[in-house]
Amino acid sequence: MIRFEFATAARIVFGAGSVSEVAAAVRELGSRPLLVTGSDSDVLAIAGLEGAILRVAGEPTVGLVRDGVRAAIEEKADVIVAVGGGSAIDAGKAIAGLLRNGPEPLDYLEVIGKGRALANPAAPFIAVPTTAGTGAEVTRNAVLASPEHRVKASLRSPYLLPRLAVVDPELTLALPAAITASTGMDALTQLLEAWVSVRANPMTDGFCREGLPLVARSLRRAFRDGSDLLARTDMSLAALLSGLALANAGLGAVHGFAAPIGGMFDAPHGAICAALLPHATAVNIAALRARDPNGERLRRYEAAARTLTGNAGASADELPDWLNALCGDLGIPALASYGIREAHFADLVSQAARSSSMKGNPIPLTEPELRQILARSL
Ligand SMILES: [Zn+2]
Repeated sequence: MIRFEFATAARIVFGAGSVSEVAAAVRELGSRPLLVTGSDSDVLAIAGLEGAILRVAGEPTVGLVRDGVRAAIEEKADVIVAVGGGSAIDAGKAIAGLLRNGPEPLDYLEVIGKGRALANPAAPFIAVPTTAGTGAEVTRNAVLASPEHRVKASLRSPYLLPRLAVVDPELTLALPAAITASTGMDALTQLLEAWVSVRANPMTDGFCREGLPLVARSLRRAFRDGSDLLARTDMSLAALLSGLALANAGLGAVHGFAAPIGGMFDAPHGAICAALLPHATAVNIAALRARDPNGERLRRYEAAARTLTGNAGASADELPDWLNALCGDLGIPALASYGIREAHFADLVSQAARSSSMKGNPIPLTEPELRQILARSL
């Protein structure tokens, strides 16, 4: 019997120029905004946003969020607006949640904290992505790094779903090619992992079916010519669809590894996912052929291979090759470039095996299979 649940941001506005609607939406939700942003001051000006500003340089840490909650309290902020990539959005999301639940991130963080559930709804939170990748504008978790533990952990609650997500592809026109590549590969990874996830449902399937062809036709184009608004629009939509899918279907082995690798090494999340994706896909397909050859998950890989390669007769095995070629065209570095060595495998495998993302993987992988993914991605 089918049973599923689906939850997302209360309101989603998508389209070129839609950032002009943010200021009015902020006024509807509060009178004292805290603006959480990366290096996007120009976007704040374009959007006509004024208020206290919290800068997020790099991926958010527990300390940054703790300081952010303190700043929000001092400023008497009653609405949090995040303008930026996944880092700024996750920081804003965490601050909005903690502002109404007590200020200490470690009380609520998974893995390294107490993992308590948020008892109260978050302060109103608006997410305005300026990259096309994480889909964080429609997810219910915020990934925070703890440099002293050398891990990343999530703050997770249905209360963290943004009140409003405004996705304006024009905001991504100035993204450098390397960020276009890594964030775009994150969106692709999320669409593919949600599509073959054991927790996929008919609604998330629809988002993945819509999203995968957008990446196939537009990621290379956006990488080569950042000013191509049609390609940028496809990628912003693909990223949004990937967020809608992953928040409700879960992910898989790539994201299972991405969290511990991101905690231990200084590497962008999307680039880690990209380096792992062809190899995790190949290992998953081989495991399915060996242990579940007639199952639905292998057929799903085959369908994805046909969609992405554009070849209606493609077999699942053509998918890893296509992904490898895409990584090559986008200049994705291998994992060794971040300092990852075989000596780190045991630790990474044991952390990945216990991660929440791994629970969505289409088939349980053995320890040698998990090591194989890392070895091939070096
Ligand atoms: Zn991701």
